[in-house]
Amino acid sequence: MPDAAVAARSSESTNSGTTQQVDVAVVGAGFAGLYLLHRLREAGFSTVVVEEAGDVGGTWYWNRYPGARCDIQTIDYGYTFDPELDRAWTWSEKYATQPEILRYFGFVADRYDLRRDIRFNTRVKAANWDDTSGRWQLVTDSGADVSCRYYIMATGCLSAPKPPEIDGVADFKGEIYFTGRWPHDEVKLAGKRVAVIGTGSSGIQSIPLIAEQAAQLTVFQRTPNFALPAHNGPAPDDRKTYFETDRAAYREQARWSLAGVPYPQEMAVSWQLNDAERRERFEKAWAAGDLVHILTQLWADQAVDFDGNALIGKLIHEKIRSVVKDPGIAAALSPHDHPFGAKRPCLDTNYYATYNRPNVTLVNLREEPITEITATGVKAGERTFDVDVIVFATGFDAMTGAIKAVYPITGRGGKSLSDVWANGPQTYLGLTVSGFPNLFMITGPGSPSVLSNMAVSIEQHVDWVVDRLAALRDAGFTTIDATETAQAGWAQHMADCSMLTLHRLANTWYTGANVPGKVQGLMPYTGGVGPYRSICNEIVSRGMLGFKLTGPNVAEQCNDGEVVRLQPDVRLVLGMLAEMNLPPIESMGALGARDFLTEFNKGRPAGRPVGEVGTGALMGADGPLPYRLYRPATPGPHPIVVYFHGGGWVLGDEQSDDPFCRDICRRSGMIVVSVGYRHAPEHRFPAAAEDGYAATRWIAEHAAELGGRPGPVLVAGWSAGGNIAAVTCQLARDRGGPQIAGQLLICPVTDCTFDRPSYTDNATGYFVTRSLMYWFWDIYCSPADRTDPRVSPLRGNLAGLPPAFVATCEFDPLRDEGIAYAEALATAGGSVEQLQARGHFHSSLMMVDVVITGVSGRVKMAEALRGFAGLPRKLEASGEGTSPITVNAAAG
Ligand SMILES: Cc1cc2nc3c(=O)[nH]c(=O)nc-3n(C[C@H](O)[C@H](O)[C@H](O)COP(=O)(O)OP(=O)(O)OC[C@H]3O[C@@H](n4cnc5c(N)ncnc54)[C@H](O)[C@@H]3O)c2cc1C
Repeated sequence: MPDAAVAARSSESTNSGTTQQVDVAVVGAGFAGLYLLHRLREAGFSTVVVEEAGDVGGTWYWNRYPGARCDIQTIDYGYTFDPELDRAWTWSEKYATQPEILRYFGFVADRYDLRRDIRFNTRVKAANWDDTSGRWQLVTDSGADVSCRYYIMATGCLSAPKPPEIDGVADFKGEIYFTGRWPHDEVKLAGKRVAVIGTGSSGIQSIPLIAEQAAQLTVFQRTPNFALPAHNGPAPDDRKTYFETDRAAYREQARWSLAGVPYPQEMAVSWQLNDAERRERFEKAWAAGDLVHILTQLWADQAVDFDGNALIGKLIHEKIRSVVKDPGIAAALSPHDHPFGAKRPCLDTNYYATYNRPNVTLVNLREEPITEITATGVKAGERTFDVDVIVFATGFDAMTGAIKAVYPITGRGGKSLSDVWANGPQTYLGLTVSGFPNLFMITGPGSPSVLSNMAVSIEQHVDWVVDRLAALRDAGFTTIDATETAQAGWAQHMADCSMLTLHRLANTWYTGANVPGKVQGLMPYTGGVGPYRSICNEIVSRGMLGFKLTGPNVAEQCNDGEVVRLQPDVRLVLGMLAEMNLPPIESMGALGARDFLTEFNKGRPAGRPVGEVGTGALMGADGPLPYRLYRPATPGPHPIVVYFHGGGWVLGDEQSDDPFCRDICRRSGMIVVSVGYRHAPEHRFPAAAEDGYAATRWIAEHAAELGGRPGPVLVAGWSAGGNIAAVTCQLARDRGGPQIAGQLLICPVTDCTFDRPSYTDNATGYFVTRSLMYWFWDIYCSPADRTDPRVSPLRGNLAGLPPAFVATCEFDPLRDEGIAYAEALATAGGSVEQLQARGHFHSSLMMVDVVITGVSGRVKMAEALRGFAGLPRKLEASGEGTSPITVNAAAG
């Protein structure tokens, strides 16, 4: 049978025998399914939508419980593909109710005449790929089965309600309701004794309204959630004005934002703000009643750093205590087991105040677990609660529940999706699964989905999929399948992204923890909506990278590979640098480059507080040199780390690596003395090397005056500073001291040749370029001197040197000479620890509070320094200003 999708631009669906033949079958008529149908029709694909419900709306068809509303402002929660539609509908409230949202979907279905291609009250039970015909066969529970070229699951992230896990539900003689399957007819609760089990979003929305009706309400809570007042009403003026002023810009900003709502990236970090400033921001956010505002706009570290996050938790606990009169109940309602935002916070109307009502009882299941449901009620701990109605607000088998409910889904070679996902969902982009050709999932696991404004994410997915199908058809391809390499790369990228936020630290429905027996793992993509969009676009611009395309009359195409090999935050930083379109540093001249660096550094987050920062002068090889000293807040004396900044022997000074010095001081609990050694071209080789050695000797001799521990010092340095640190160790050995207990070399320059592969692989595109390195070398050192071990330590005698920790970054021209140095040290009998930082670039480990994924590397460095100094490798937290950033440290 000729393929409808290839043979004709437009084709009709047909029923052959008992099977309906279409180009594309979409399952689900919610937000995603409706838009898919519209776009597919416009693109000329014959399409059928199969929907279990009796009408359109998806989530909003099923979730009719009292108080059901959206929690993204409705100004942001709607279709944006058609500006006319956007103008034709005006929401009545900031957060619309379920009936209004359902009316909206009905309005959309009518406007685009969608219902005629939707088969309602029909469930897809199973789906099988037929390799011979290159088509999917869908088995339905009513009417004709469906044969389609492309099978798109728009089955929803939150559409498979989680069954109760309590014994005896079937014995209960009263009424039972599920928030996710609420009846269409009115549920009368007046005068009844009601139990609500579950305090997630649905529970928090419905409890205040149920309490108003019921004679008695008993709420069974296992895990308290953070809830914020919605302050519902008209859409707020500031957002409305921005929206009305330039709708297109507003929508575009949302598309490229992190969460799908047009807010800027907050830059101020919590420790730059004092208590009053933080409280002011918090109160403003609390009053705004906007989830995305409070999740993103308080301070830059709120979602990535445990300490920055904990500040918010405390402020919300205060709010709960101020509303709930009974301190015991307030304590039970206050979440302590997860960082704020690691689990989706809820928007509420009078939630906490409801617990002041005389007809409401809270049962804390952590103290009194439910043992069973009986014919008359609920038994928890030693108590029995007789009730007339039980409402299960127990949430969903999120993200994978509805997909796996279609069973089996068999792909190439009869492989079942359930088997392939036995250890958790594996996808490419959250859209496709290798071995399951022509299957797409809208907002599947591995996409931003539930961590975003779903409206924006759904439109992006639908557009990407439909555009791809049209492009395949135009090129004569009939199948598309993700490669295993691409899928494995996406899993790695997902894992890297998960280290960026605190989501991984909470047991939530994002991780599958709410469903007994479900494999645990963070399912949504945490890298953000805008970055995700750019990755999808990049895949297209790189010739459908990671996909194999085949067709009957065209040559197979497969550009295999991983789309993101950089750490996610490194990708963002490099993207921002590329957008700045800076002239090459080497074109600026030494003085211009120094000015540039000074200006550039002004834009970075200030380092965190340490006990004390002081300045002074020490004696270098040819006169005094400035230094900057970072002292921990803990009582001394502390071991001293002599630090040499980076900058190619040309740029930088004792302040230029300030955030890094603070960070290492805090994490290691040691004094860091950053040395302002002399630079080229004013002072060429060997000035910097000799200064490094002289400064180290001076610091060792003056350790006690500096408040340091007398005895051996440690040396550390980054880039050219790493070179100086390495050289200093050799000189100290050869010149009779000072004693050095260990060397920390971060992306060090170690040799004067440029022929190692990293100089070619990473010649451009990663900020430090090959040409910049040539320039540095030319300015600092004449060719005749370059093999001198004082500038090429790799060429020196490497025996008898202090233990070393050598860090290198994958996307750095200097990578291989750093690795070569570490290996040569080990060959010479030295003790060497290596960190080869995957996905990082030359500056990654220095960019404190910018490249968050660099934290684990700095933790290891600090531990190594402590080990060199004979201290326990882990620093005990010891109060304000000294506590290591423990959570990210745990990232390993
Ligand atoms: C109470 C609640 C409030 C929410 N509020 C927000 C919000 O404010 N902002 C936000 O961004 N997101 C919100 N969400 C998430 C919401 O799910 C998405 O915003 C969006 O509606 C999802 O649309 P969808 O089309 O992908 O999936 P759904 O709306 O879930 O639609 C999927 C459809 O697929 C059907 N289906 C599934 N399996 C089959 C099958 N095998 N055969 C046939 N049909 C099938 C289902 O019946 C369902 O109708 C909320 C979710 C809930 C539950």
